[in-house]
Amino acid sequence: MLGTPAESLVAWASNGYINRSTQQHGVRRPPEKQVQRKIALERIHTLFEQASKTKDQKLADRYVQLARKIQTRLKVRMPAELRYKYCKKCGSYWHQGTVRIRTREGKVVFTCLVCKTIRRKPYSKRI
Ligand SMILES: [Zn+2]
Repeated sequence: MLGTPAESLVAWASNGYINRSTQQHGVRRPPEKQVQRKIALERIHTLFEQASKTKDQKLADRYVQLARKIQTRLKVRMPAELRYKYCKKCGSYWHQGTVRIRTREGKVVFTCLVCKTIRRKPYSKRI
């Protein structure tokens, strides 16, 4: 019987506790989500591939926009190889005409020629 407010509160609290403990032992993320994320990554790669092929800057920017939308929607990290292929600020796809790449003091400096934002990336130890 959950007549008094105190009793229902106890029941509520213990339910919460049970839920939390089962969550810890069980699968934290539903496998469905992981499948979705895998598909999302594939799509992001495809979009960037398409962006690299097209000569239309507006279309390339649109591909970047879509890729970022997928990325934020499904909470996947942008793959490392794609992270410096677009401007994080204005979202334009970076190729020869829209970015200037220089090395300076142990860093690669990317200057977006659309919005003049500068991004720096340290050299990787492999190189
Ligand atoms: Zn920019």
